[in-house]
Order: sequence, then structure tokens, then C-alpha cells
Amino acid sequence: MAKRFSVSEYAEGVLSGNRVMLSRAITLVESTLPSDQALAQQVLDVVLPHAGRSVRVGITGVPGVGKSTFIEALGLHLVDAHDHRLAVLAIDPSSQRSGGSILGDKTRMNLLAAHPHAFIRPSPAGRSLGGVTRATREAMLLCEAAGHDVIFVETVGVGQSETAVHGMVDFFLLLMLAGAGDELQGIKKGIMEMADAVTITKADGDNELASRRARREYQNALHLFPLAPSAWAPVVTTSSAVTGAGVPNVWEVVQQYVQQTQASGYFQQRRQEQNLHWLHETIRETLETRFYARPEVQAQLTAVRQRVLEGRQSAFGAAAELLGL
Ligand code: GDP
Repeated sequence: MAKRFSVSEYAEGVLSGNRVMLSRAITLVESTLPSDQALAQQVLDVVLPHAGRSVRVGITGVPGVGKSTFIEALGLHLVDAHDHRLAVLAIDPSSQRSGGSILGDKTRMNLLAAHPHAFIRPSPAGRSLGGVTRATREAMLLCEAAGHDVIFVETVGVGQSETAVHGMVDFFLLLMLAGAGDELQGIKKGIMEMADAVTITKADGDNELASRRARREYQNALHLFPLAPSAWAPVVTTSSAVTGAGVPNVWEVVQQYVQQTQASGYFQQRRQEQNLHWLHETIRETLETRFYARPEVQAQLTAVRQRVLEGRQSAFGAAAELLGL
């Protein structure tokens, strides 16, 4: 186990923008050791007043849609043209099975990774989706405290991880391909409905015309959805990370969204709601973890599962029995 530092060493390191200490603090929030978690919460308490001053953008799309290429192109635009400090985080529950992760491949986003104003961190591995989500949310707060004013949270467009990302960001961007049907892209209707913007990727060369057509189709489809509580009408654009066309435009859309929702108060209200949601999520997760960690529960769980599987005991009765231990 790597060396541990004091609360003030972590906090001061993070607040001074020291990238090594930021990485170490993130490793701490990712740790499942109870002593690390206790230390991590103390660090978070100290830095929390300095967090929150950022625009949080969730980015999703199926593997191959061009997420990493797009994130690198938009990221470089933000750090170079807008002088932003960017952090790119990820939620990839598949990394617990494969051992790898969407950001684990070191060849991805080379230019961005080497930029002094960009910080890239792969998805924590080996945890449940809930655990990965919590660690990523806490990593986001640490990045903000370290001075990153734009946070990207990337996820793969194939499951519940979108809902998790949507619950921690201000703006949700969906990347889609022209010419591939919704089904083929594994995109569920619910994910389209979460999107504040859709960008049709790889709009270059032979694909340009089809991309423009797809843009119109998706724009028309989105018009049919009821207006979101944000009162924001989702925007569909085309972009090419290879030529760069349409990439800055996506950031203009994000800025318009932030302006509009800050003026209406929705931006602040949504963050408050997200914080309350996190309060309850944390309580639920902590209780669950503690429950399953109890030796009595561990000793009986296999037998109880078997009884429920074989229909010898009702799920409700079995749960009541375990909970009553
Ligand atoms: P991810 O799996 O969603 O992260 O997708 P990648 O960023 O790895 O891209 C998948 C493939 O699409 C790679 O071979 C990229 O070179 C290619 N690609 C990504 N963006 C573009 C683009 O804007 N135009 C073209 N023509 N190809 C692209």
C-alpha cells in the first residue's frame, strides 16, 4: 500500500494545484479501505469550500463513436483558446471485469494528457457502479479544488452508467454516428432524453452529407420530447475531431446552456438537488456495505441465497431474517 499523508498535506497539495498530490488524493477516495475512506472524508471536508466552481459536462456514446478523439480535440481547444483548466474523469463499470478501462489505454489523448492545464484520470476499477460513481464524484470535487474549472466525465453509452454520470454533471452531451440506427448504437430512448446536446461525430469526408442529414433527423426527433425542467431545448450539431470543424461550436452550446440556466436559477437548483441525492445515496451505500461486511451476514448469506433460489424461503422472509441478525 502506497504511503499515506496527513489531512493537511493532502488538502494543501490539492489546493495549491499540485498534480501529484491531486492524484494521490484521488487514489485515497478510490480506496475501499475503511481507514483510507475516513481520511478521504476529512480531506474532502477541508477542500469542499473550494470546490464547485466549474462547469461539469458528461460525455457519452457507444465505443467507437469517437469519444476520446473528440474529448482530446475539444479539450485542447478549451485549454489553448479559452485558457481553461480541464479535468477528464471517467465512469466505466466494465473496467471491473476487463481490468482495463475506457481511459486506461495510455495511448489515448496523448496531446491532452501532456498539456500542463489538463488532468486525465481513468475510471477506478474493481468496484460496483455505485462505488465507481462515488469515487468519480469525489475526484471531481478534488479536481475543482485544485483549480480545474471544466470537468468532463466520460462514460460508455451502453447502460446505467449514463444515469450515474447525468446525476453528477450540469450538462450532458451525447455523441452519435450518422447512418447507424439508434438500436445499432445501443442508445436507449432514455439516454436521448437526458441529452442537452447531441453531436454527430466524424462529420468529415464521405460522411459529411450523411452527418448533416442525421443532424436534422435527430433535431426533429428531439423536438418531440417534452421540454426538460431546465427549459433548455436540446441542440444537435455535427463535428469532426479530425478536421476540427464544429468542435468549438459544441463549447458555445455548453456556454449558452450555462448562461441560460444560471440566469433562470436552474443551474444552482440542480446542483442542490444533486447534493441531496448524494447524501441519500451515500447513506444507502454505506449501510449496504456495512451490512454485507458483517461476519454473521457473510456466514449465512450463501445458505440463505440457496433457500431463496430453490423456493424454500421467500425473498422477503430471507431478507427479514438477515436484517434481524
Ligand atoms: P471511442 O471508443 O468512442 O473513444 O472512439 P475513438 O475516439 O477511439 O475513435 C474510434 C475511431 O474513430 C478511431 O479509429 C478514430 O481514429 C476514428 N475517429 C474519431 N474521430 C473521428 C473523426 O472526427 N473523423 C473520422 N473520420 N474518424 C474519427
